[in-house]
Amino acid sequence: MLRRPAIVAAAIAATVALTATQASAVTVTTVGSGWKVFTAKNVTSIKPSQQYTVTFESTATKNLTAKYLAQAVPQINAAGVKLTVGGVETVAAGKCAPRGHIHVTRVYQPLGKKGFSRALPCYDTTDNSAFGGIVQMDSEYYDGRNTLPTANMWNVHVHEMLHVLGLDHPNVDLNRDGTVADYECVQTSYKNKPLMCSPSGGYKTATNQGKLLAYDINGLKALLANAKVQGIK
Ligand SMILES: [Zn+2]
Repeated sequence: MLRRPAIVAAAIAATVALTATQASAVTVTTVGSGWKVFTAKNVTSIKPSQQYTVTFESTATKNLTAKYLAQAVPQINAAGVKLTVGGVETVAAGKCAPRGHIHVTRVYQPLGKKGFSRALPCYDTTDNSAFGGIVQMDSEYYDGRNTLPTANMWNVHVHEMLHVLGLDHPNVDLNRDGTVADYECVQTSYKNKPLMCSPSGGYKTATNQGKLLAYDINGLKALLANAKVQGIK
C-alpha cells in the first residue's frame, strides 16, 4: 500500500518536468512571405474557439462601413477564424470592446494624418491571443474631404480589421537600400500586394476589391497555428 503513492508521485514529477521542457521549447512563428504577426502590439495568436463579432458605434457607421467587409468575411471564416458582422454597441472611449468584439468607429484623422485610419488591437494578457479591439476609420472617407478610389475603400476597411485580428504590415526592404519603404511588399505575378501592405495593399479590381490575398490568409493561419503550439484552445 505504501509503494503505490510513491510511484504515482514519481510519475507526476516526471510529467511536470516534461511539461516545463515543452513550454520552454514553444516557438511561435511571427513572419512569412507577405505576412507578419502583430507582435509590436503584443498579439501572437488567434484563439481557435474565439467568436469575433464586428460591432459599430451607430447605425450610420454600420451603413457606411459594413458593406466593405462582405468579400473578406467568408474568406476569414474559411481560414478558420469565427467572425461575423453584428450590430450597434456602445463602447467607452479609450477602452477595449468586450472580448471578441471588433468595434468600428469613425474618427477624424485618428493618426493625425490625412487619409489614415487606425486599428487598436486588444489582447489576452495571459496568452497574447487576439481579443478584439477598436477600429477608427478616418471620417474624411465618408464626408467628401478625402474620397478614396473604390478598391482602396474596400481594402482599407478589411486592412484595419486584420490588424485587430493580429496582422501587421508585411513591408520588407526588398531592394536592400536600408529602408523599408511604403508599398515595399512582395507581390504576385499580377503585381497584387498583400492587403496588409502599408499604406495601401490589396486587389484593385471590382471583382476582387476587399478580398484577402493568399499572403494575408497565410498570416491568419499562422496566428491560429501559433495558438496550437501554445496550447491555446
Ligand atoms: Zn495598417
